[in-house]
Amino acid sequence: MQKLQGIAVSPGVAIGEALVIDNEGFRIPRRFVDRDAVVDELQRLEKAIAAAGAEIARNRDAVTQELGEQYGKIFEAHLQMLQGASLRNELEEMISQRHYSPEYAVSRTLRRYAQVLQRVEGSLAERASDIFDIEKRLLKHLLGRRREDIAHLTSPVLVLAHNLTPSETANLDRHFVRGFATEIGGPGSHTAIVAEALEIPAVVGLGAFLNEVSGGDLVILDGDKGLVILQPDEETLAHYRHEAEELRLQAARLEQLRDLPAVTRDGTQILLLGNIEFPYEVEHCVDRGADGIGLYRTEFLYLESGQEPTEEVHFDAYCQVVKAMGDKPVTIRTFDMGADKLVRDGSALDEKNPFLGLRSIRLALRNVPMFRTQLRAVLRASVLGKVQIMFPLISTLLELRQAKLFLKDVMEDLDEHGIPFHREVPVGMMVEVPAAVMMLDQLAAEVDFLSIGTNDLIQYTLAVDRSNSQVVHLYNPTDPAVLKLIQLSIASAERCRVPIGMCGQMSATPANTPLLLGLGLRQFSVPPLVIPEIKNIIRHVTLDECRGISERVLGMESAREINSYLADELRKRIPNVTE
Ligand code: PEP
Ligand code: MG
Repeated sequence: MQKLQGIAVSPGVAIGEALVIDNEGFRIPRRFVDRDAVVDELQRLEKAIAAAGAEIARNRDAVTQELGEQYGKIFEAHLQMLQGASLRNELEEMISQRHYSPEYAVSRTLRRYAQVLQRVEGSLAERASDIFDIEKRLLKHLLGRRREDIAHLTSPVLVLAHNLTPSETANLDRHFVRGFATEIGGPGSHTAIVAEALEIPAVVGLGAFLNEVSGGDLVILDGDKGLVILQPDEETLAHYRHEAEELRLQAARLEQLRDLPAVTRDGTQILLLGNIEFPYEVEHCVDRGADGIGLYRTEFLYLESGQEPTEEVHFDAYCQVVKAMGDKPVTIRTFDMGADKLVRDGSALDEKNPFLGLRSIRLALRNVPMFRTQLRAVLRASVLGKVQIMFPLISTLLELRQAKLFLKDVMEDLDEHGIPFHREVPVGMMVEVPAAVMMLDQLAAEVDFLSIGTNDLIQYTLAVDRSNSQVVHLYNPTDPAVLKLIQLSIASAERCRVPIGMCGQMSATPANTPLLLGLGLRQFSVPPLVIPEIKNIIRHVTLDECRGISERVLGMESAREINSYLADELRKRIPNVTE
């Protein structure tokens, strides 16, 4: 048994078989094969060696012709090694005697060769990369398939990968992927956010561990504590089976709150909205009694398909969501691409600091036809229900005005063509950049509503990349500097009489609920999965109590002190709650 600690990003417990994807994107299968499969496996190895050999020979001939014989010799050396008796004997022995799978035998043997070379001083060390090249070639022929596999599965699995991009996560087969864990990735990454949309436990930032596990191994994923347990013993397995059952019972208990209002003990009504990334999640919001959609991350329409959606694709998605929510508000955020949210062929942007680069509203203002297409579709959907439009990552007044100007322009266009839309559609912006907080009185005067995006506000306040596990110790929603900015934002909004909510992950952490209520927040937008838990807390507290908590917290100096105080306060009021 091996216990690994990572960063918890999506709650719950999952127990199941591992599907391992290495950092080249290859699916690593079982380590061992059955005794009676040995003959077939040896044939598979034979075929892979022949195919890889033919490929290397073709390269050798082409390079010799283009560049001369001395370059062709590099490939000749690869060929000799691949077809040499010593490598072949070693691989065959591993498969027939130790019953290793050919993939595992190839990786183990060639990586051992490479390690020996890497330890030798001088030019031989450089030859290690030749060995990795041969390994990759052989694996390609043995495995054949790559990452796309995870979109089409036939049985339940836990995906263990070096990394998953937000678009890969968006394309996971949600019927069979029961959880995932990655070697890299940080707490605010969009990969983590998609895990919550899929309602599966996830752990990121585990560090290198894929060499310790192979496809089919039994794994436990604890998304509450950020643990991954490889090959668990019977006692641990029994403990987690019990835990999974407890979580299921707790969720069933909280389900009973569905039709009760999110109202504090002293009678203040709180708006409890859902965050969604995919239209199918609207059902999760309805099932859990959401008061509306506070954030629809429409960029997932681009990430899922890997290309720019047409106006009709936008429109169909919005129709589905707006109609399902009936008379409840649906806040459609215009696309927020760039940084870690790139479409699969999004490599065109060569930026050194993508989170400080051409992302979000900046990208929209540069891609006017794409922006206009989306605005047309949102406006067309606005007659079907209670649509609100929200612009992300506004950092200057000018940017907000430009975005609104495009909206006005699209409205005129629809008017000219006699296409109906809701002329008074509420327009809001996200508060995600400290500059916006400092200018919020002026910005608020030009919008109908505001929403604090803490995921970005934290990263831009503390200068810490939300997707980088190396600096996770600095990524603290309750850092006093972040809390001061939230306090300022709420005060600005109150002064300007503009409603303000919060749709960043911070509002989805139960221990933060009393603090945020105490700071004056009256609208929470959270992943649908946690709506019942947050509602339960709201219904257990009074605003006076919450103000007392926020006053104490504002006098504290560190996130650590604040978190431990908030956890104690929550435990006092609601036993058995996740913090
Ligand atoms: C945020 O930044 O808090 C937010 C809600 O937007 P996203 O996570 O999509 O960047
Ligand atoms: Mg954001």
